[in-house]
Amino acid sequence: MSFNDHYVIIGNGPAGNHAAKTLRKKDKGARITIISDEMIPYYYKPKLTGFIADEIAQKDLLVTSLESYKEKDIRVRLGQAVEQIDPDSKSLVLKHMETIKYSKLIIATGSRERLLPFMSGYADHLKFITSYTDVMDYKDKIQNAKEFFIFGGDLVGFKFLKMLNSMGKKVTILIYPNAFWPYNLTEDMLDQIFTSLSQFDVSIIIKDDISTIDKKDNGSYRIKTLKGVEKTVDMVFSFNGLVPDIDFVKGSGIDTDYGILVNEYLKTNIDGIYACGSCAQIYNPDMKSYSASIGWPNAVVQGEVAAYNLLGDHKVIESVGRKYFDLEGVKIKTTWWGDINDASQE
Ligand SMILES: Cc1cc2nc3c(=O)[nH]c(=O)nc-3n(C[C@H](O)[C@H](O)[C@H](O)COP(=O)(O)OP(=O)(O)OC[C@H]3O[C@@H](n4cnc5c(N)ncnc54)[C@H](O)[C@@H]3O)c2cc1C
Repeated sequence: MSFNDHYVIIGNGPAGNHAAKTLRKKDKGARITIISDEMIPYYYKPKLTGFIADEIAQKDLLVTSLESYKEKDIRVRLGQAVEQIDPDSKSLVLKHMETIKYSKLIIATGSRERLLPFMSGYADHLKFITSYTDVMDYKDKIQNAKEFFIFGGDLVGFKFLKMLNSMGKKVTILIYPNAFWPYNLTEDMLDQIFTSLSQFDVSIIIKDDISTIDKKDNGSYRIKTLKGVEKTVDMVFSFNGLVPDIDFVKGSGIDTDYGILVNEYLKTNIDGIYACGSCAQIYNPDMKSYSASIGWPNAVVQGEVAAYNLLGDHKVIESVGRKYFDLEGVKIKTTWWGDINDASQE
């Protein structure tokens, strides 16, 4: 037991919650705090599309109630964004300027939308589905809108498209070859996805690109493609993958690339600071490179491993769950850890 320790976890997703649970299991005396910039307790992101369509009730989105944090003696601070980390003074600064001291820190801030650089001029016109907060901003509008344009086409994008289709909405999708980044879809793969999605009542555009998106006075959007397709829609969504949400780490001395760089024990370059889940870029000693992990099951295991190692263990992280993804019939290897040569083994 360590009554003087204060373990702080930034992030209230699967990585942060499994870290907190593991810390509490192994250390009954320490103070444990989870900080989240969202107002909702731990929830299932994979259920967000069902929530938009009213197939899932708000209470069923939640993994954990506020009471269960109390039962485990874990303090949760909701609606509080961390803006700075100062490893020298072992403190965090929140957006409302409060300073919080920690003895050890786990960063589990997940990921946010990936805005393609050539689309940045249209950022105000694009909508994303990355969190409950996004969904609450657009849910009513989505339910009332009739026509949609989807640019990109990652796993969440295809899920969203099918949900809109089941709601009777008119949908056009322009599939971008790098939407499931860092992987690029070949022309054959695009053809295969086109065939698979053709069973739905949607317009599919492949091997083309956005030329312009203009907002009209009545609030609709006019989209033109390079090959001359023109569409007028009520909402435009971008689904081009997610990127680690780590802007607040800048200037702290914690090493980053596109994610927070950690070794195979999920430790950063600074003692006492760990990162896990989809904000982390993990060193693989076999591949001698860093890569980010994908998906909920990996975030769960990484949260647990980060917590064990923070407490002095030496557990090496491994990939769990799916090591390849099925993108509408196209199998894409995501060998961020194991070297999977044959996807059919899964
Ligand atoms: C719509 C959608 C559907 C998905 N469907 C699937 C699926 O079917 N299967 C699957 O395996 N994966 C799915 N995923 C991906 C999965 O949700 C993620 O891999 C997983 O949530 C990552 O967990 P995490 O704990 O690393 O981060 P997150 O779950 O993203 O949690 C990050 C937390 O950090 C908080 N945060 C961020 N920045 C700050 C800050 N500065 N200060 C304070 N708090 C901060 C956030 O509010 C959030 O609480 C889906 C994702 C989305 C968006």
